Amino acid sequence: MRTAKKRNRKTSSSDRNFKRYFETSETVTRNLPASARGKRAVSECAQEHAFAFSAAVLDKKFLSTVKKYALLSKKDKIAVACSGGKDSSVALYLTAKYFPNVTAIAIDEGIPGYREETLEYARKFCREHKIKLEEYSFRKEFGMGLPEIIRRTGGNPCTTCGVLRRWLLNKNLSGYDKVVTGHSMDDEAEAVLMNLIKANLEEQAKLGPVSGARRHEGFTPRVKPLYLLREEEIIRYAHLVGIRVLKKSCPYRKNAFRLSIQKELAKLEKEIPDAKLQIIQNHLKALPKIRAYFSSSAGYSKCETCGQPSANRKCRACIIVEKINN
Ligand code: SF4
Ligand code: ZN
Repeated sequence: MRTAKKRNRKTSSSDRNFKRYFETSETVTRNLPASARGKRAVSECAQEHAFAFSAAVLDKKFLSTVKKYALLSKKDKIAVACSGGKDSSVALYLTAKYFPNVTAIAIDEGIPGYREETLEYARKFCREHKIKLEEYSFRKEFGMGLPEIIRRTGGNPCTTCGVLRRWLLNKNLSGYDKVVTGHSMDDEAEAVLMNLIKANLEEQAKLGPVSGARRHEGFTPRVKPLYLLREEEIIRYAHLVGIRVLKKSCPYRKNAFRLSIQKELAKLEKEIPDAKLQIIQNHLKALPKIRAYFSSSAGYSKCETCGQPSANRKCRACIIVEKINN
């Protein structure tokens, strides 16, 4: 009787997303009893169980990461840096699901053929989930988009993009207690390896579930509640709850050093399945000592041009802006 009722029930978009995912995914079918594993012959009941199970496991992982590293509290006024990509959309979805005071913040770097689509998705997502969205753009702030900035300054696209985006975020976040970012375990393991190869200990000290080697009143703490979630888990969760996974990636990404590291890590994980987890766990063991070193060395002062925290007289963003204007 109950089964018949369920069979007649109108299928929701979440169900459809899950079904599509379920029919092509071995990850979920592996978790089912042998009798339910046939790709197309899975019963609706088994699908619903697996749906609830998979989503709940990932919700729990998000909440346990938040608790383990004391990332967020219900009293916090939270900003979520949202690009419209799957990672930041999942971070936004989960943060808004469990915390009451959440605003999405989107930055338009003016990257043609890429950012328009992700921003459009971020707007749609926030409308559908009734989340407030604030938008800021390189064009409004610096007078031009990233491609023009790179042409004028000759800088590395990702470094320039990162410095200006952080500066713009920081400028507009003074009223918030925390900024959530969508960094996953994969992002973090890649960053640890990149810093090791470049022997960049100061950048290494900034990694971790709470970014930054030092606290400063001018910095809103950035936290990573997806820190212990793998890329494939985030994709799975996105499919389960109906978040669109955009295929397009930033045109500058193909030049990124990160891409080579990603490929090497993928090879390494074939030999050592938990390699990424081991990398971040070992990084966390070393982190207190690295941070202690950098917090005892010269601290932050204020940039003489813009007033934002800076280790030098002028911050990196203001140096880029000077090059743009010359
Ligand atoms: Fe910016 Fe590089 Fe990311 Fe593109 S790939 S959005 S240029 S940091
Ligand atoms: Zn400055």
